[in-house]
Amino acid sequence: MQAPGLTQEKKKEIIETLEKRGATRECPRCGKNQYTLLDGYFNQTIQHDLKMVALGGAGVPSVILICNRKTRRSLC
Ligand SMILES: [Zn+2]
Repeated sequence: MQAPGLTQEKKKEIIETLEKRGATRECPRCGKNQYTLLDGYFNQTIQHDLKMVALGGAGVPSVILICNRKTRRSLC
């Protein structure tokens, strides 16, 4: 049984795609340029009413890069 999360091949594909699209700048908060790719997708569902939560439907699938310079106070 495969562990949940992104495969190494998928992680490599995501990083290569980001590099091809020029997403290679340093972190705007700390100036470092080392990130960790979150081991999964972040898919925000588009909401049409703030008083209700719709599950499923159209969304914005994303990947998350976390700056490696973590502090106790915040992530940068
Ligand atoms: Zn940072």
